[in-house]
Amino acid sequence: MSQSDRPPQVSCDRTSSSLTSAESTDLWWGTVVAGQANFYWVKLDQADQPQASQAQASQSQTSLLCTRRARLKKLGQQVMVGDRVGVEEPDWTDKRGAIAAIAPRHSQMDRPPIANADQVLLVFALTDPPLDPHQLSHFLVKAESTGLKVLLGLNKQDLVTPTLKAEWQDRLETWGYHPQCFSVLAQTGLEDLALRLQGQITVVSGPSGVGKSSLINALVPTLDLRTGEVSGKLGRGRHTTRHVELFELPTGGLLADTPGFNQPDITSSPTNLAQCFPEIQQRLSADTCRFSDCLHRDEPGCVVGTDWERYPLYLELLADAIAQQQALSDRPTEESATKTKITETGRQEEPKLLARRYRRHSRRSQHQALQDLCDEITDSRGAIADLDELDGYET
Ligand code: GDP
Ligand code: ZN
Repeated sequence: MSQSDRPPQVSCDRTSSSLTSAESTDLWWGTVVAGQANFYWVKLDQADQPQASQAQASQSQTSLLCTRRARLKKLGQQVMVGDRVGVEEPDWTDKRGAIAAIAPRHSQMDRPPIANADQVLLVFALTDPPLDPHQLSHFLVKAESTGLKVLLGLNKQDLVTPTLKAEWQDRLETWGYHPQCFSVLAQTGLEDLALRLQGQITVVSGPSGVGKSSLINALVPTLDLRTGEVSGKLGRGRHTTRHVELFELPTGGLLADTPGFNQPDITSSPTNLAQCFPEIQQRLSADTCRFSDCLHRDEPGCVVGTDWERYPLYLELLADAIAQQQALSDRPTEESATKTKITETGRQEEPKLLARRYRRHSRRSQHQALQDLCDEITDSRGAIADLDELDGYET
């Protein structure tokens, strides 16, 4: 998932995506920064738009409220926040448009639904609330399980002694992390952090009370997220688990503020779990275990060993992952549509309703997350109310 895999930032490079010539005429490219109720806010790229309309778009920072072309809908192509999209027939007066093309994604997170994210910034506080290594580890493993790059930021350094800070830094180095310490309140350490976010789509995550809203406000000065309470700029919508929006950093790059990521449920398979522990990866990069399917539980010839701080946590999560896998394999399989039931009158074949339900669920979770959100909102309040809410988003 390297930088070079990213879809082109320059949108009218018509040769660089798989679009047909009909699709590529006069497309205005940009990034979907928010989506609600079948409407999407698309922040257009500032440069390299089709010549004819360049003047009209020179109102830089143009965001358009877009629908999705029926053709895309027919093809089953969902639009996600973070998608690079081509917009057709922009209406500059009303700031409307229609999404006619979606560039291939280089990454996709389903929960929360976000396309093309580059990294996760996990924010914790050095104190207030006290830094709990167990909770931190759970969040870290969850973040690693996305396969994205993981940055660790430790806020509120104004409240701790340099010694305590250094102790945490040393400890986290042994976990394989190089935490970035900062204080939003004292405005220290923020430039270094901002550098690491430049030009990237970063998903911000962490428990509540650590200063995530304060940090986003500091990094995106045009914004005014409320801090120290549950609700934010978009009020009701913002803290539902599947709501995602991207905020533009002044230095380039986007921040995804997404509470949906904040409940760490670890879903790695037993064999993938080791990839979520950088200290295991460090050991494996130097040497290999005797058995290629080694689960690193003190097996003979295991190079990972047991002399590392998070080994007990690894064992705990590994046991969970094995139990989860076992539970999945005990479920009826999709191949056989019936199961045998022994009754008083003998053996009887019954349809496996359970398996179907699971199948449908997984398809939905993969492709329908946004659609669900739209339905949810439309049902309860109607699209218009939400669009009013989104109005404040425009810069
Ligand atoms: P969130 O729940 O993670 O979004 O956290 P908030 O941004 O709402 O911050 C929680 C509390 O921590 C608020 O009272 C902030 O004023 C406070 N806070 C945020 N950053 C700092 C900091 O750097 N130092 C100190 N002392 N307090 C901070
Ligand atoms: Zn091993």
